[in-house]
Amino acid sequence: MTEATADHHHPAVRDDLILIVERLETGAPGPPLQALAVRAGRIVWCGTAAEARRRSGPRVALDGAVAVPGLVDAHAHPGWTGQALEQLDLRGLEPGALADRLRRATAPGDRWIRGSGWSVLGEPAALPQTDRPTVVHRVDRHVAWANRAALRAAGIADGSDDPPGGRFVRDRRGALTGECHDTAIRLVLAAEPAPTAADRERWLSAACARFSAAGLTAVHDVCAAVADIGAWRTQAGRLRVHALVDGEDPRRDEILEAGPQLDPWLSVAGVKFFADGALGSRTAWLGAPYADADHCGLPGLHGPELHRRAVRWAKAGFQVAVHAIGDAAAREAVDVLSRLPAVRHRVEHAQIVDPSTVRALGAAGLIAGIQPTHARADAPWIADRLGSQRLSWAFRWRDLVDAGARLAIGSDCPIEPADPLAALRVALAPPVGQGIDFDTALAGCTHEAAWAAFAETARGRLAPGFVADITVLDRDPRAALSEGAPLAVRATFVGGRATYGPR
Ligand SMILES: [Zn+2]
Repeated sequence: MTEATADHHHPAVRDDLILIVERLETGAPGPPLQALAVRAGRIVWCGTAAEARRRSGPRVALDGAVAVPGLVDAHAHPGWTGQALEQLDLRGLEPGALADRLRRATAPGDRWIRGSGWSVLGEPAALPQTDRPTVVHRVDRHVAWANRAALRAAGIADGSDDPPGGRFVRDRRGALTGECHDTAIRLVLAAEPAPTAADRERWLSAACARFSAAGLTAVHDVCAAVADIGAWRTQAGRLRVHALVDGEDPRRDEILEAGPQLDPWLSVAGVKFFADGALGSRTAWLGAPYADADHCGLPGLHGPELHRRAVRWAKAGFQVAVHAIGDAAAREAVDVLSRLPAVRHRVEHAQIVDPSTVRALGAAGLIAGIQPTHARADAPWIADRLGSQRLSWAFRWRDLVDAGARLAIGSDCPIEPADPLAALRVALAPPVGQGIDFDTALAGCTHEAAWAAFAETARGRLAPGFVADITVLDRDPRAALSEGAPLAVRATFVGGRATYGPR
C-alpha cells in the first residue's frame, strides 16, 4: 500500500472516486491490488479491496474487471476520423457498387463530394464526371481519385507538373486519369472550400466519442492541421492529446515560432513529415523494385531537404516524426533523426526495415510508432509486394525492441479502426512479422506512449501521483489475449471522470 496523503482517516476528507475491481494491472511490479482512490483528477491511493472499505467517497465496484493504465492511441488522425463519419464510406465495395455509390452521391451547398475506403486500384473511371468536384481516398489515404471538376477547380491540367513527393497519373496520351498520389492529393484538396471551426470541432467531438468507447484516454494526433489545434481546446476533459503538426501545413511556422507547448490536456510539441506513401498502393519507397511492379515506389521528403527541415524543428525543441513504410524511407528517416538534437524523435510505421537500419534505429534510442493491425490488413498481399526475401524485414517488432527502440502503439485510424484491444491482440500474434510479449505490448499503449508524449511522470501507470486515466476491461487481458477469448471495455476514466461506462 502506498499513500500520497496522510489525511484520509479524517472523516471530512472524502475521495472523489473509489474504484474497486478484480485486479489492478498497475504497469509496475508489486503485490496484487484491487482498488484505487481519486481526488482532484489524480490517483491518491492504491490498495486492497479490504483497505478500500475504510475510505469514504463514491464507489464504483466492477466484479471480475481488470483496470489498466488509460490506453493511448499513439498514432491517430482524429480529424480525418470524425470527418470520415460524415463522408461516403467506400470500404469493401466492388468496382460496380463503388461506381453506383458515387453516382448517387450528393453534397449540400458548395461542398465537394468526399469519401474514403476504396481499395481496388486502377478504376478511376468509376468517378462520375459531373460539375460537382469529387475526391475519394483509397483506404490507405496515399492515393485518391479526383474527378475533372475537382482537377479543374484546383487548376490542374494535362500539362501540369507533378509536385515533389506526389504524382498525377496519366494515360498513354498524357491525359490525367484522375488518380492522384500523396502530395498531388493535397494540391487538389487545397481548392476545396475550407472547413469552418465548427466543422473541425464537430469532427473532433465525434472522434472523441469513438475513442472513449474504445477505452482510449489519450491520442497522439500525428498529422494535426494547425487549424485543429484551436478545435482541440474545446475537447479538454474528454481526451488528452499530443499533437504533432502537419509539416506541410501552410500555417506550420506559427507553431514553430511559438515553440513546443506541454499541457495536461493538449500538448503541441511535435511535427510530422512523410518520407513515402503506403505499401498497398505501391507508393511505399523500397530500396529495390517491388516484386509485383517495375518501380521502387514514391519517395516523399528525403535527403538534404528532410534534414534541413528536421533540424529546424528539432533545434526549436520539437519532436520530429517521419512517416516511413518502405525500407528506403526507413533508412532515410533513421539517418536524419539519429543525427538530430535528442527530443524523442520517432519513425512512424517502421514497417519494412532492413537489418542495419533496425540496429541504427535502436542504437539511437528512437521511437518506433507501430500499428499492429496494419500487419493483419497487409497479410493477404504483402508477400506479393515484397517477395519472400524481404518479407522478413516486415513488422520486426521484437527485433526493434531488442535493438533498443521504444515502441509506441497506435491504430492509424481511420485507416484502421481506433481499437487498442485489437492492436494488443495482433501485437502478440501477428499473421505476418514478429509478435511481442504482453507486457511490452501493453507498455506500448500506456507507459511508452506517455514517454513519447513527454508525459511519463504523470501518465501510463496506476500509482499515487499519476493522473486518474484508467481503462477498465471486462476480464483479465493477459488471459483473454493468450487464449484468444473476447475482451471488452467496461469503463473509461479520464482525470477520474467517466468518459465511457461503467457498464
Ligand atoms: Zn498515419
